[in-house]
Amino acid sequence: MAVSGRKKESVLKMARTRAAKSHWRLRKSGKLQILQAVPFNQFKWLVHGFSTRPGGMSELNSSRLDRSKKETVLNLGFADWDTRERVDANRRLFQKALGHGDACFVTLRQVHSDVLHVIRGPLSDLPNGDALATGTKGWLLGVQTADCIPILLVDPRHRAVAAVHAGWRGTVARIAGKTVGRMTMEFGTQPKDILAALGPGVGRCCYEVGPDVVKEFAAQFSDAAGWFDGPFDMLASGEDPNPLPWLTMMPPGHQPPAIRCHLDLHAANSAILANAGLQRKNIFAADFCTSCRTDLFFSYRREGVTGRMMGVIGIV
Ligand SMILES: [Zn+2]
Repeated sequence: MAVSGRKKESVLKMARTRAAKSHWRLRKSGKLQILQAVPFNQFKWLVHGFSTRPGGMSELNSSRLDRSKKETVLNLGFADWDTRERVDANRRLFQKALGHGDACFVTLRQVHSDVLHVIRGPLSDLPNGDALATGTKGWLLGVQTADCIPILLVDPRHRAVAAVHAGWRGTVARIAGKTVGRMTMEFGTQPKDILAALGPGVGRCCYEVGPDVVKEFAAQFSDAAGWFDGPFDMLASGEDPNPLPWLTMMPPGHQPPAIRCHLDLHAANSAILANAGLQRKNIFAADFCTSCRTDLFFSYRREGVTGRMMGVIGIV
């Protein structure tokens, strides 16, 4: 019996949805859950993963209503509310869960820049910057996030990897694209060979930005409008959305609500990577919003005081 056009279309749509979902897997290891990009797992010499919130040794009070309520979390960033011992213990737990307790962690003092460090040997100090790359075995490159996008890159042909931290400032500075360029210079990488995993970050649903951010994107990218929901053109052009305050009939001292857009950092960074020469089919963006899913992730914007997750990649 022939399948009707509509039914065929819906079957195809379901298959496509399943395929998109199957690019990501939450792997349980003891009390921890590690998010992995399935296409990265085909390389036996590669280790990678994005940490999540549950498990760990840290005690976080994230309830504004009940200050005595403590939650046990895997905080991987040094913070005032947590002890160095617990963060170090959490990092060891995460590393063990990745299956490479003997590799060395390399992290950064992240400053929302476009600065990249190539790792060839041990570092004497924690460098300032927002991207790490290596072609050397034994290093686990880690970037910390709690809403910003952690991006992991692998060049399977030359066995080179990179980890990138991209908030809106790093995205405007094209840090992901510059990392691809640097891999080309350092390792002979061809961008069409690179696989990219864009880990969990604040989603288009929750990431509200004002005219300052919209203007920066509009000045840098001709295709920026597609990464925003809301009155992009109005905010980008600098038009005052409320030119005649007396028309809004607000009482003296009251301002009309600020007009905002929603930004999709996954879409922006995917486009930047595609412009740098990556094939669209090799770019995998995790369909999780950190702000919607505080059961599974940390969200600085939603919670204020919270932990940090880590996106990690290395050659073993
Ligand atoms: Zn959301």
